[in-house]
Amino acid sequence: NVAVDNHFVTADELRGCLPKRPKFGHKGTFGHALLLAGSRGKIGAAVLASRACLRGGVGLLTTRVPAVGYNIIQISDPEAMCLADPNPDFLTELPDLQPYDAIGIGPGLGQHDSSREVLRQLLETTRVPLVIDADALNLLGANPDLLALLPPGSLLTPHPKEFERLVGEPARDDYHRLDQLRRFAARTRCYCVLKGAYTALATPDGPLYFNSTGNPGMATGGSGDVLTGLLLALRADKRLSPLDAALLGLHAHGRAGDLTLPHTGHAGLLASDIIRFIGPALEELV
Ligand code: AMP
Ligand code: MG
Repeated sequence: NVAVDNHFVTADELRGCLPKRPKFGHKGTFGHALLLAGSRGKIGAAVLASRACLRGGVGLLTTRVPAVGYNIIQISDPEAMCLADPNPDFLTELPDLQPYDAIGIGPGLGQHDSSREVLRQLLETTRVPLVIDADALNLLGANPDLLALLPPGSLLTPHPKEFERLVGEPARDDYHRLDQLRRFAARTRCYCVLKGAYTALATPDGPLYFNSTGNPGMATGGSGDVLTGLLLALRADKRLSPLDAALLGLHAHGRAGDLTLPHTGHAGLLASDIIRFIGPALEELV
């Protein structure tokens, strides 16, 4: 049974949706985001998501990585503040959440039991919007008790494999998967993306939205981490609704990927190239 209401999102309808930065805007206007990411060997995911969040226009960013990542983040992303976990290899403790306007979790996180408990504590205590990706989604899929704690309004960004783990049932075909997506968003009251060409977005009660930007050069390690960072920046901006933040982020991410092509071609496109064009892609939507 195919979703009844589908909407293909064009650049024209998003133009003007990103509020102009006010002349007297300050760091507080654009929000303070917290990113929980990285484990030994995957600190790069935290670097990419952090840089994308900064390029997404966030006012302030704090990145929480295991201790092994402290110097890496400080050197690669000097604009971010870094809060190192006491454990060298993976996250074991949730920091004080009081200062933050939005929280992202997952890129490069790993699935250690201690990191699962960090995720549980986050789901139980947060009062701000969440962006959930990668291993945080895999942990949700493997632990249905965690899935039950998902705060309504959260934004989830699985690719098809992560989505299958999340719903615990393989899709028969692409139509069935989209139907699963719509049901999942309705049941959890969350915004759930299904990444790929023409990334889909399901909302708690709305139609299914399809993104029109992006290219197969983006099928490369790290592009999803870039999306998470960008979406986190937009969720931290209190002027944007959850739906607008998601649609703007998906569109700008793909558009940034398209803007890299004259410089990189498809094969040469790296996730860090996408980050470089986030600014111009967002500017088109102001
Ligand atoms: P991930 O698998 O988490 O690294 O995420 C990959 C990112 O690249 C997602 O945002 C996808 O939508 C995007 N992507 C991957 N393949 C394509 C494609 N063929 N066309 C457009 N975007 C793509
Ligand atoms: Mg990913």
